[in-house]
Amino acid sequence: MQDSGGWEAPRRAAKVLFGRYELVGLLGFGASARVYLARDLRSGQSVALKAIPKGRVAKGGRAPNVVREISIMRHLRHPHVLRLLAVLASRSKIYIVLELARGGELLARVARGRLPEDLSRRYFRQLISAIGYCHSRGVFHRDLKPENLLLDDAGDLKVSDFGLSALPDQIRGDGLLHTVCGTPAYVAPEILSKKGYDGAKIDVWSCGVILYVLNAGYLPFNDPNLMAMYRKIYRGEYRCPEWTSPELRQLIGRILDPNPETRITVDSILHDPWFKKGLSEEERAAAAKFHAAETAEAEDGKFWMSEEPDRALDAFDLISFSSGLDLSGLFGPASDRQRFVSAEPAEVILGRAEDIGAKEGLVVRRKGEKGLGAVEVEGQIGNLVARMVVRRLAEGLVVVEVEGGGDAERGFLQGKLLPALKGPVKATANSGSAAGRPYPVL
Ligand code: AMP
Repeated sequence: MQDSGGWEAPRRAAKVLFGRYELVGLLGFGASARVYLARDLRSGQSVALKAIPKGRVAKGGRAPNVVREISIMRHLRHPHVLRLLAVLASRSKIYIVLELARGGELLARVARGRLPEDLSRRYFRQLISAIGYCHSRGVFHRDLKPENLLLDDAGDLKVSDFGLSALPDQIRGDGLLHTVCGTPAYVAPEILSKKGYDGAKIDVWSCGVILYVLNAGYLPFNDPNLMAMYRKIYRGEYRCPEWTSPELRQLIGRILDPNPETRITVDSILHDPWFKKGLSEEERAAAAKFHAAETAEAEDGKFWMSEEPDRALDAFDLISFSSGLDLSGLFGPASDRQRFVSAEPAEVILGRAEDIGAKEGLVVRRKGEKGLGAVEVEGQIGNLVARMVVRRLAEGLVVVEVEGGGDAERGFLQGKLLPALKGPVKATANSGSAAGRPYPVL
């Protein structure tokens, strides 16, 4: 017997998941998951496979964290942020396929002894580049610590574990985050007070603690008594070891500033003499270049529309489409979005959108590959009237997502575009040949 999404019957010693991922070994345990080493049989690539029991996702308050972790990671593309490759689901588990960081945890490296200053600088630069990128996308890590910093084959840093990250919608009207989070020794003083805090500033603080640990081999704020440790954090009471260079001492001092208002920012760190040492202006600019060209579209907050349209939908898409775990609220204000399944070829549906847009005298722009893709319809003054994306769901089925540009454009969306898209189609996902039946809305 075989659970289509579960383990295959063990004909060979190795287990194969979803007919694609061959299980090779166990990499580690997290708070909610086991992480396996696996081989992608299609590409031959080694990957990390995080198995999260569905019970943990559905119950006990873990759902928002897991869903948030997935939804954030799948949109991040940075050389020092761990890539999320795919999400799959069986009856009992959700599997997150991650880029493999073969070098293990940076913490294990530090546990063998403090790092030479140049190596600390290399990791710190990679960390700041990754954090600057995440902040520029409105994503704050909030639980930065060496355990969340993994190393790849080349010994380069990969920031992982975005389970506690916050997206902009969690910021209250005062612009500050209010969830208490983080790991005691790495938390910024303003988290300990009950006031709100700025996600960017607390990440910078944690980067300072990490930098201190890399250089010293031990924590800056430590005490067997938790309250005494918090007091030290609150007062910014620490001492750098004697081998710390004056430039590094100064930078650590500017980061571990208990006052978030005067604490150094990521932008200023990029211009710090210790940070810049040995870097050409070009390399410094590269470290500061947080906005990758291909991700610029996401800045308008409509992540769901900026995804690669030729990517087949995965289990996570289906989970997030269901009302229980609808992520749309995470990505921006509610919009006039409609989603339906069609058995028609994508090309036909996209062609209809182009025709109706042109007929109304609007500007129609086609995006993506032939066969699957997106269409944007604009008014004469460049205002967005509607956007649609067609993505593959399964053999012979596509999901169409349509969104209006705003209130003024609702008439076109509801009165013209949607009827034109849905009109002559006969078959639906559930009905086979059920002519004229309404579309199943996911
Ligand atoms: P996590 O659930 O993310 O805390 O992961 C638990 C442990 O699994 C980590 O501490 C790592 O040792 C290991 N691990 C997680 N993700 C990866 C990965 N992408 N590559 C290699 N090891 C990983």
